[in-house]
Amino acid sequence: MSPVDVKSFYLTELETIIWELSLPSFRAKQIYEWLHIRGVMSFDEMTNLPKELRSSLSAKFKIFDCEIEKKLVSSVDDTVKYLFRLHDGELIEAVLMHYKYGYTLCISTQVGCKMGCAFCASGLNGFVRNLTASEMLSQIHVAQNDIKVRVSHVVLMGMGEPLDNYDNVLRFLKLVSNSDGLNIGMRNISLSTSGLVDRIYDLLSENLQLTLSVSLHAPNDEIRSKIMPVNKRYSVNELLAACKKYTQLTSRRISFEYAMISGVNDSDECATELSNKLKGMLCHVNLIPANEVSENTFRKSSAERLKRFSSILKKNSINVTVRRSLGYDINASCGQLRSRHWKGEV
Ligand code: SAH
Ligand code: SF4
Repeated sequence: MSPVDVKSFYLTELETIIWELSLPSFRAKQIYEWLHIRGVMSFDEMTNLPKELRSSLSAKFKIFDCEIEKKLVSSVDDTVKYLFRLHDGELIEAVLMHYKYGYTLCISTQVGCKMGCAFCASGLNGFVRNLTASEMLSQIHVAQNDIKVRVSHVVLMGMGEPLDNYDNVLRFLKLVSNSDGLNIGMRNISLSTSGLVDRIYDLLSENLQLTLSVSLHAPNDEIRSKIMPVNKRYSVNELLAACKKYTQLTSRRISFEYAMISGVNDSDECATELSNKLKGMLCHVNLIPANEVSENTFRKSSAERLKRFSSILKKNSINVTVRRSLGYDINASCGQLRSRHWKGEV
């Protein structure tokens, strides 16, 4: 029998379980707070529960932990990169970044990834499994308890495609923003997707105030299909139509991620075509020099190319920033640390 994953329950579900166990109803709230606010990883730590209850609960339920397998602290900024080991031995990554407004944790949503983007290290060893909502929460709990700070912002931009693990991600979003738990508001959460259009529409129907980030990386189907296989399923135009709908219904600005890869997607023509396609949309473009991954031949664009590309977007009134890449000395790009760990390099 698979273990009952207690940290993935909503408070109302936990209340029902506690009632079925003939326990006093206030126990549900106590347990929920230990799990979600304090982020404890064992029932033994729930010191306001009677000892017998703690041991009967640990026989029934499991708290899905993330143990710190490796931790790298950037010498350039305060960025911390974690390699976490899950209960079944699988490894995932999370990155803690320190900004003026607080701490942001970038979390993983899957072990590996199915999407196979050519420039990315996350899918190199294929897809292994989805993360549970509790495993997404545990990444925050372990990072918070490790460096004794409050994480105020979360980005779903680590390993995996969040919309390919839709149900667990939605459950996570509801749990993490719950005022009885970590209470991280939807406005402080960003979800990044490679563009699963049907799922973007599903997300729209949830009417959440989170920031949607779309990994665009190319202005047309010809280039995008070469580097992102998902584009063969959903074209650039279909994706942009879904994005437009999102901004109209939520009145929230959409973020487009654009990794600048030398000679692939960084020409003046690409910048002009991108400007034409995004004109009039409530959006922002993040230009990022591609992180070089040793497994492929892609190289990042030069600083001059980035400048030129961004100036064309600006001239066309498109909001653009060249993103500083935090923690570049510690393999902070998704999937890189796990992949190097496997090869015995770190
Ligand atoms: N699967 C989701 C979220 C995780 S990837 C997505 O693709 O959006 C997080 C971000 O890192 C995405 O924008 C992705 O395109 C980008 N990324 C992946 N590998 C990269 C690399 N080598 N250089 C720059 N950005 C990269
Ligand atoms: Fe998966 Fe995102 Fe990496 Fe593409 S960029 S392989 S969708 S994690």
